[in-house]
Amino acid sequence: MIYEKISLKKFNTFGINVKADHLATFKIEDNAIHFFRQRKASEQKYLVLGGGSNILFTGDYHGTIIHPEMEGIAMEGKKGNDIVISAGAGVLWDKLVESAVNNGLGGLENLSLIHGHVGAAAVQNIGAYGAEVKDVIERVRAISLDDGTVREFSNSECKFGYRDSIFKNELKGKYLITKIYFRLSTQPKLCLEYGSLKEELSLLGSISLANIRKIVISTRQAKLPDPDQIGNAGSFFKNPIVPDAILKEIQKKHPKIPVFKDRSGGDKIPAGWLIEQCGWKGKRIGDAGVHERQALVIVNYGNATGVELLDLSEKIRKSVADNFGIKLEREVEVI
Ligand SMILES: Cc1cc2nc3c(=O)[nH]c(=O)nc-3n(C[C@H](O)[C@H](O)[C@H](O)COP(=O)(O)OP(=O)(O)OC[C@H]3O[C@@H](n4cnc5c(N)ncnc54)[C@H](O)[C@@H]3O)c2cc1C
Repeated sequence: MIYEKISLKKFNTFGINVKADHLATFKIEDNAIHFFRQRKASEQKYLVLGGGSNILFTGDYHGTIIHPEMEGIAMEGKKGNDIVISAGAGVLWDKLVESAVNNGLGGLENLSLIHGHVGAAAVQNIGAYGAEVKDVIERVRAISLDDGTVREFSNSECKFGYRDSIFKNELKGKYLITKIYFRLSTQPKLCLEYGSLKEELSLLGSISLANIRKIVISTRQAKLPDPDQIGNAGSFFKNPIVPDAILKEIQKKHPKIPVFKDRSGGDKIPAGWLIEQCGWKGKRIGDAGVHERQALVIVNYGNATGVELLDLSEKIRKSVADNFGIKLEREVEVI
């Protein structure tokens, strides 16, 4: 389906009311292939949009929004304890996690209740509670926006990093992901080291995928604002990995600064802590604000524009740079 001059308010979790010149939805991969084959890419401007939960629109979009709606979760193969399943790009991420947990397949449980659709999970290499989706992605199927050709990317070809992949770098804006293949397990290696997961599991009595999912969901619900109630896109900034010299300098003034090891061994400081130290937690400028429980989340209290939210984020970035000498990097993509 192709729509013209359509409001994107329902297509982004900040609830920003901008318009797109065109919006094309695809339920079937072949239709998308046909669409891109017919058009000269050099004459088009495209943006692929899933659930819009990691995007901040700052104005109308003069081009075509591509909105994948490919559904379906299927079992593709089994080898020992490993089960390969596929999911269409349009499947709600948390529906996939729920289905895996209900079927006793481990690997996704720590990523419960993350917003958005399956397709974007590979773009962003979503992560939470010590897990990253790259650890269970086997391959990613995608269509070239240039000429409609189909390509499958192996895990290593996706060049995953912290909230990063090839789809955010050299292939940014070049592919529409249509399906992802995940390698899950009936005997998974559980990831319980993060936060108080282990203690909370012991309170529930048994370690199971369902209990891990339960704890992750209740913790997220307590900590993070629900975009259905108040516009937001989760963490606005990435947690910075800081060089030793800067960390030592900060520790002189703030000996209790929280620091945790990145998977690559670097020292990560929670961006929310830095923002809170700068006095931003709970602050509000018009309808743009910093959430009162989680300083890393910028919220739209109603009618903030994307520009107002971006301005607020830049003010926060400046004060963190002035106070700590750390340049925060955005996790949310500004359009
Ligand atoms: C309350 C809240 C909590 C959150 N918590 C977390 C968290 O714990 N961990 C985490 O990692 N993220 C978190 N997020 C961010 C967000 O949920 C993820 O980044 C998610 O993967 C975005 O999915 P989406 O479908 O909304 O993508 P969108 O916001 O629509 O798009 C994100 C990017 O992916 C591209 N893209 C989307 N779909 C496709 C596709 N099919 N093919 C090619 N490119 C595509 C877009 O062009 C864009 O560049 C949170 C967001 C919210 C609102």
